[in-house]
Amino acid sequence: MRKSLIKLENVFKHYYMGDIVVKAVDGINISIHEGEFVAIMGPSGSGKSTSMNLVGSLDVPTKGKIYLDGEDISQLEESELAQIRGKKIGFIFQSFNLIPNLTVKENIMLPMMFQGIEREDREVIAEDLLKKVELADRGNHYPNQISGGQMQRVAIARALANNPEVILADEPTGNLDTKTGEKVMDFLRQLNKEGKTIIMVTHEPELAEAYAEKVYWLKDGKVEKVTHKNGHFSVEKEEKQLFDKDNKRVVKKSKKKIKKKGD
Ligand code: ADP
Ligand code: MG
Repeated sequence: MRKSLIKLENVFKHYYMGDIVVKAVDGINISIHEGEFVAIMGPSGSGKSTSMNLVGSLDVPTKGKIYLDGEDISQLEESELAQIRGKKIGFIFQSFNLIPNLTVKENIMLPMMFQGIEREDREVIAEDLLKKVELADRGNHYPNQISGGQMQRVAIARALANNPEVILADEPTGNLDTKTGEKVMDFLRQLNKEGKTIIMVTHEPELAEAYAEKVYWLKDGKVEKVTHKNGHFSVEKEEKQLFDKDNKRVVKKSKKKIKKKGD
């Protein structure tokens, strides 16, 4: 059995907007083991980003416990959380979140600066990471001088800067075309093969199905179901059933139309 890395136990995140309570996350249990490739899937507004922010200690829960490497982090102060995630977690966002007035290489060096790594070492590591994401010749470019796919690869390199155990990716291909997105996904798959734990948020079931070994399906801030690729409950089957149902509906409608025309 692989080591448990991140665990959310009955976690809630509610926002109070005047008289209204927004139940962004409403009592979820998530368990992620070392070396897993996990997807958090669900429609827009289902609580995926909020869940990811909790998993990645970017946010604290209203209620419930969050364990990282066995340590309860649900009550820590922001400064302590920042230290932990700086070392253990790398983040990738839909909109890349690169700093526009820093070069590609400087963007990758930045997280290492926060960990007190010497400038010379930062440069060497950043250059290595640039090679890894096949952008060795783009180090001196600024983010607005490279393509979206390249920006996301820079973001991957930056996420790897402090050699974290976990990579969290929130809709990593959301702003990319299919082909460019596939290349980004293949890098994530490669990192997973090298031993990194990957947690990916997506609203695209095909993406979750193709890359993740375990999928948490969210709806209205709750986990609706969990599917395992190699287990008794396959994601593929789930999706096929939904598709067949829709297909039948379409077929019925079109038959009706044909009849009318013939009348
Ligand atoms: P997803 O990523 O699945 O699209 P989110 O986790 O971003 O969903 O949001 C879940 C719900 O919580 C949404 O209804 C959203 O409007 C609400 N929400 C998210 N963040 C906040 C916030 N800071 N304040 C109030 N409501 C929020
Ligand atoms: Mg989101």
